[in-house]
Amino acid sequence: MFDTLSSRLETVFKSLRGRGRLSEADIDATAREIRVALLEADVALPVVRAFVAAIKERARGVEVSQALNPAQQVIKIVNEELIGILGGQTANIRLAKTPPTVILLAGLQGTGKTTLAGKLGMWLKKQGHTPMLVAADLQRPNAVNQLQVVGARAGVEVFAPEPGNGIGDPVAVARDAIAHARRNVFDVVVVDTAGRLGVDQELMEQAADIRDAVKPDEILFVVDAMVGQDAVSTAMAFLDGVGFSGVVLTKLDGDARGGAALSVAHVTGRPIMFASTGEALGDFDVFHPERMASRILGMGDVLTLIEQAEQAFDQSEAEEMARKMAASEFTLEDFLNQMLQVQKLGPIGNLLGMLPGMGQMKEQLAQVDDRDVNRVVAIIRSMTPGERRDPGILQKTRKERVARGSGVTVTEVNQLLDRFAEARKMMRQMAGGAGFPGLGRGKG
Ligand code: GDP
Repeated sequence: MFDTLSSRLETVFKSLRGRGRLSEADIDATAREIRVALLEADVALPVVRAFVAAIKERARGVEVSQALNPAQQVIKIVNEELIGILGGQTANIRLAKTPPTVILLAGLQGTGKTTLAGKLGMWLKKQGHTPMLVAADLQRPNAVNQLQVVGARAGVEVFAPEPGNGIGDPVAVARDAIAHARRNVFDVVVVDTAGRLGVDQELMEQAADIRDAVKPDEILFVVDAMVGQDAVSTAMAFLDGVGFSGVVLTKLDGDARGGAALSVAHVTGRPIMFASTGEALGDFDVFHPERMASRILGMGDVLTLIEQAEQAFDQSEAEEMARKMAASEFTLEDFLNQMLQVQKLGPIGNLLGMLPGMGQMKEQLAQVDDRDVNRVVAIIRSMTPGERRDPGILQKTRKERVARGSGVTVTEVNQLLDRFAEARKMMRQMAGGAGFPGLGRGKG
């Protein structure tokens, strides 16, 4: 799921790489490509429109940032908008003040409601609850039996009408179930209702009657992510007919384009609370909008990196640094500060591992360890302020003192001084230009 969308977006971002700043034309072209990518992925048109408009507006308003290049800025905006469309924050089940908490499941037949009841039951149990499942789907001949099988597998109690009583009354069953749960201290009740093949008025009314009888704390609309555009109209029909407080996406393991799933939360204004990713009871989890967004963007942890770079990067410090470089005033003291700023981003190995395409290099990266950086920091810290400003005064005895103080050899001190001299020479050459390598762009 989302594979095409991911690769499309990646192409969009790639074309932005290396741009100094975003022109109006860049923004338009990018917005157009994002629009095509979303439509191709089956995202509903109103959602696409809102999304693209937001991206355009925000991309135009971005400040020239020294921490992020234009491609990173666009990725950041797209990511934030995606998270918004997916419902913003991770939503939690609202528990009733007086148990039992009642969760009603609604949705079309075959979407995975019964399976979901089992998954939810098992998940609730893991959270320390004592859940009970209720078979209020008396329409489909085998539904009660299926829920009993699922419940047994999940190790969760199932409340079902006595067999052989004809087609019972699902509303009465649901009401009895709540009374039973109260008496037997089950604290969460999950009610499985009859599905329907299409939107069907009679069954919709039945679900509404069950709703009125059990007064659910949450009504979860279950939607099969494979169904495409229909998901949106079905969701609207259920919102109208029964109402719901949250969405569960099922069959996210399928290879559908996924856009419909992206649209439901935005169109209905209800958060996606859970996601199902397979037939087994364990293939289920709380839905995290941020995780899903970064999965769609396919950027590994590059987003985390962007965030950290922003946090660690101090704009005024950077400007001062650029000025010093231009004036050849860059000292070992400044070098030390740069090192410490890079270090704020986290272990160097991790940092490189977050870059796209570097994921497989984890092993080699583990060897680029922070000891190198730490050693440099230690050496500079063993120098006096005067020595940091003017390394030229570091003669033999001073070097020996620094080496002793930082636990390295004199050779290592010399190596650092050589590296610094070289860096300084380089900086003088690009004075006022590109800025300090490795941390965004300098002034200019
Ligand atoms: P209900 O009619 O809504 O109760 O749907 P069921 O729970 O009977 O599920 C219909 C079919 O979808 C069953 O074969 C399930 O095993 C399957 N199913 C349910 N959830 C998932 C899922 O997340 N992924 C996949 N691949 N299959 C699922």
